Order: sequence, then C-alpha cells, then structure tokens
Amino acid sequence: MNKNKCLQCSEAKGQGKAVKCSQCEFFAHANCVSIPEEVCNLLDSSTNLRWFCDRCLSLGPNIKKLTSSVDSLRKDVFNKLNTLNDLNANIKSELGNINAVIESNKEKLNQLESSDVFRGELNTLKISFADIVSRGIKGHTDDIKAEVKTVQATINDA
Ligand SMILES: [Zn+2]
Ligand SMILES: [Zn+2]
Repeated sequence: MNKNKCLQCSEAKGQGKAVKCSQCEFFAHANCVSIPEEVCNLLDSSTNLRWFCDRCLSLGPNIKKLTSSVDSLRKDVFNKLNTLNDLNANIKSELGNINAVIESNKEKLNQLESSDVFRGELNTLKISFADIVSRGIKGHTDDIKAEVKTVQATINDA
C-alpha cells in the first residue's frame, strides 16, 4: 500500500478533490468514493468532521473488541499486581513481627545477663556445684584412704 496512491483507483492524487482517512491517513479521490465537492469542502474546513475509508470502517468493530480485551487484560494484570502487593505487605509485616520478637528476646537476654539476681543465682549455682564436686572427691579420697589402711592392716597381720 502506498499513501501517495488513491485507495480506490491506485492513481496519484493529481488536481482533483480528495479525502483523507482519519484513521490510516490514506487518501481517496472524492470522485472515486462518490463524495460531492461541497462535502469535501466541509471536511476540509471543519475540525470535527471525519472521513474513514472502507477498510478502517470495517476494522472499527475489531479495534473496539481489541481495545476492550486489552482493557480486561490490563484490569487482570492490575488485580494480580494488587494481590502480589498485598502478599508482599503481609510478608513484610510478618517479618516485622518476627524481628520484633527477636529484638524483645534479645532485650530480655540482655536484662537477664545484666541483672544482679541472675548473676547471683549463677554464682550460687557455681558455688554449690563446686561444693558438691569437692565433697564427692573428698568422700572418695576418704574411702580410698580407709581401703589402703585395711590393706595395710591385712599385710601387717600376715
Ligand atoms: Zn481514485
Ligand atoms: Zn483508512
């Protein structure tokens, strides 16, 4: 297709009146599409009157259909994006909650570590543990000492 040739007769524009399609911008001789000269003049002088070629007129409904399906696709994508955004916000707030819990646990641990009560208890635990261990060892040593004495007595008696 050539924009410099009439849609109807495929000849060049020449001197005669012609109309231009407002959609595809191809032209046609006014005579070729049976448009009276006064209508041509009206079309030329008015900014609101438009002429469409047969091809564009027949495509019209298709373009409408296409536009509406693009619109519904766009709505679909928009809805999906919104859902994704909601999910993202949920995940973010969940992460925020988890962080808050971790922070509060950290704080509690810090408080425990710095609290005198906890330190005191820890020291008591350490002391009592050491006490038990040393007592246990002492007991065993006494047992061993007694055992050795018995053995010595037995040897002496022999
Ligand atoms: Zn023509
Ligand atoms: Zn056209």
